[in-house]
Amino acid sequence: MIDLHSHTDQSDGSSSPSGLIQEALDLKLEALGITDHDTLAGYDLAAPIAKDRGLELVCGIELSTRLEQTDPGTRAPSVHLLGYFVRTEPTVTFREWLVNWQNSRRERNLKLIRRLNELGVDIQLEEVQKVGRNLTGRPHFAKVLVAKGYVKTTQEAFDKYLAETAAAGVEREECSLYEGVRMVREAGGTPVLAHPYRLPGGREEAPMSALLEKLMEHGLAGIEIFYSEHSDADRELYLKLATRYRLIPTGGSDYHGKYKPGIELGTGRDHNLNLPYSLLEGLRQ
Ligand SMILES: [Zn+2]
Ligand SMILES: [Zn+2]
Repeated sequence: MIDLHSHTDQSDGSSSPSGLIQEALDLKLEALGITDHDTLAGYDLAAPIAKDRGLELVCGIELSTRLEQTDPGTRAPSVHLLGYFVRTEPTVTFREWLVNWQNSRRERNLKLIRRLNELGVDIQLEEVQKVGRNLTGRPHFAKVLVAKGYVKTTQEAFDKYLAETAAAGVEREECSLYEGVRMVREAGGTPVLAHPYRLPGGREEAPMSALLEKLMEHGLAGIEIFYSEHSDADRELYLKLATRYRLIPTGGSDYHGKYKPGIELGTGRDHNLNLPYSLLEGLRQ
């Protein structure tokens, strides 16, 4: 069994890189892909530990991108793009490009703090950073808002303050999906469309076909078929599309540790995953 989609505490997972390696070893996983959001820090920390303890580690990343704007006046949908580096390490150019996006996240956080303060919410960046460390994002703001009693739940925090359409909502600049695909390619990686069910029209054949055809022009190579939240029908549709377009099938749990209860490393939700090693071999070819 392997798992090609997991997060450490260097993005929004709860396990440290070394903790995650140990969890993978305890499960006797044959390979583990670390795919933190917009950072390689978790993989970088995990790589020497995995080597020491004899676990095959796959270098990955999950980029937050935006779909092309089709409807002016509305926010383009957010799309996650996986990048796997199975043959070469990511290039220096790619690493520098990532740092730029991390800076844009930091700027967004500063703006968000200012807006919240203007709305009378007593919150400081330091408090949020204590929760989110080096990849502080809106879920960490939500936690602090709940802890301080401004809202009762994370959902309320987003609805009332944090969503892009809410009172303190601040848009964050994100790269386009096409640019993400090209960047992963140029860095020597394999771009893979993550959990397609979340896309607008992602569970229907026609819009998915149209999107995949466009993405392949930019260099998309794979599609995440096996995923904790995919239904049997989803899996069937994505397998059909992967065969039609000769896209590499990948899969993983999207394990976030205790931050996504119910999703287990390796086995996903209610043991709906059991991915063979051949999936990784397919990615290598
Ligand atoms: Zn994702
Ligand atoms: Zn993920």
